[in-house]
Amino acid sequence: MITIDGSQGEGGGQIVRSSLALSLITGIPIRIENVRAGRKNPGLLRQHLTAFQAATQISNAQTHGAELGSKVVQFEPGTITPGRYRFSVGSAGSTTLVFQTVLPALMLVDGISHIEVEGGTHNPHAPPFDYLARVYFPLLRKLGANVEAGNCHPGFYPAGGGCFGAKVVGCPSLNRLELLDRGVLLHRRVRALVANLPIDIAERECRLIERRTNWDAKNFSREEIEGSVGAGNVVMIELEFEHLTELFIAFGKTGKRAERVANEVLRSALDYIDQDVPVGTYLADQLLLPMGLAAAQGQSCVFRTGPLSQHARTQIDVLMRFLKIKIVVQADAGAFLVRLRPP
Ligand code: ATP
Repeated sequence: MITIDGSQGEGGGQIVRSSLALSLITGIPIRIENVRAGRKNPGLLRQHLTAFQAATQISNAQTHGAELGSKVVQFEPGTITPGRYRFSVGSAGSTTLVFQTVLPALMLVDGISHIEVEGGTHNPHAPPFDYLARVYFPLLRKLGANVEAGNCHPGFYPAGGGCFGAKVVGCPSLNRLELLDRGVLLHRRVRALVANLPIDIAERECRLIERRTNWDAKNFSREEIEGSVGAGNVVMIELEFEHLTELFIAFGKTGKRAERVANEVLRSALDYIDQDVPVGTYLADQLLLPMGLAAAQGQSCVFRTGPLSQHARTQIDVLMRFLKIKIVVQADAGAFLVRLRPP
C-alpha cells in the first residue's frame, strides 16, 4: 500500500483523483491522509466523493472513508471492468474531473465503455466539457487512446443539472508524443453561451471580442441553452493549431458585466498566443498523467510549456510515487521542456 499525503504541494482534489487513477492502473492499494488539507473546506466534497465512488464502481474496489468530509480514505482496486456507467455528482461539482479519474484505466483495459456523468459541465477551476472534447481527447488519441466525446447538455454552477457522455474503446498500448510547437494556426472559434439569461449578454460578449481582434465574424456563435435548470453564461475561445488546440473560458456571474467576461477570456487567449508555447498552464498538469503512462510503457514523451503551476509540480510528485519513470524539467529559451521517459 502507498500512503499519500493529501496536504503536499497543491493540497487539493487533484491529488485524490490522480492517486485513484494511478491506483486503478497499477493495482496498488492507497491510503490518502490529510485529504484536501490545503483548502478552506478540507475533506471530500461531492465531486471528489463521486470520483471515489466511480473508481470503486469500475474496479469493484474495497474502500474505507467513502463519505462526504472524509479526511482519510483507503482504496484497494479489484479488476477493472469496462462497460456502461452513469455517475452523478448530485451538485454542480465538475463532471469532467470525475470522468478524468476513471478515464486512464478505461482507456488501457480491453473493452468498450460508455460513460455518462451528471453535474456541472462548465465549472470555474475545472476543464469545461469543450476542453475535453476539443483539446484533451484529440491529444489522448495522438497518444494512442481511443476516446470520443458524446453529447453534452451544459450544466452551470451553482444549479448543475448538466450531463455529458463519452465512449472509450480500451487499447492497452500507448504511443510516444512530442508537443514542441503549435504549428500553423488553422481556426479560431468564439462561443458565448447563455442559459436562462438574455441572449443580449452573449451578443455583447461576442461584439467586444470582434471589435478588439478583428477576427472573422463567421467564427463567432451566440447560443441559448434550452432546458437548463439554472442560469449560466460562459464565453470560450478555441485556438486550433496544426499540432494541438487550446481553449480558454471565462464565466459570467451576477453583477459582472458581459464586457468584463469577454475581456477576461480574451486576455487568457492573447497571453497564450504571446507565450509561444504549445502546452498551456492547465493542459500541462493534465497531460502529465497520460504521458507518464506512455513512458511507463517504454514510450518517451516531451512537451514545451510555460512555468509549471503548483498543480503540475504536485502531479509530478504523485506520478513518481506510482510509476517507474523519469520526469525531467529543463529551462528552454524562456520556456520549459518536460520530458517523461522510461527509467
Ligand atoms: P479543490 O480541491 O481545489 O477544490 P478540485 O478538486 O476542484 O479542487 P483541482 O485539484 O484544483 O480541482 O484541479 C483542477 C483541475 O482543473 C486541474 O487539472 C486544472 O488544470 C483544471 N482546470 C482548471 N481550470 C481550467 C480551465 N480553465 N481549463 C482547463 N482546465 C482547467
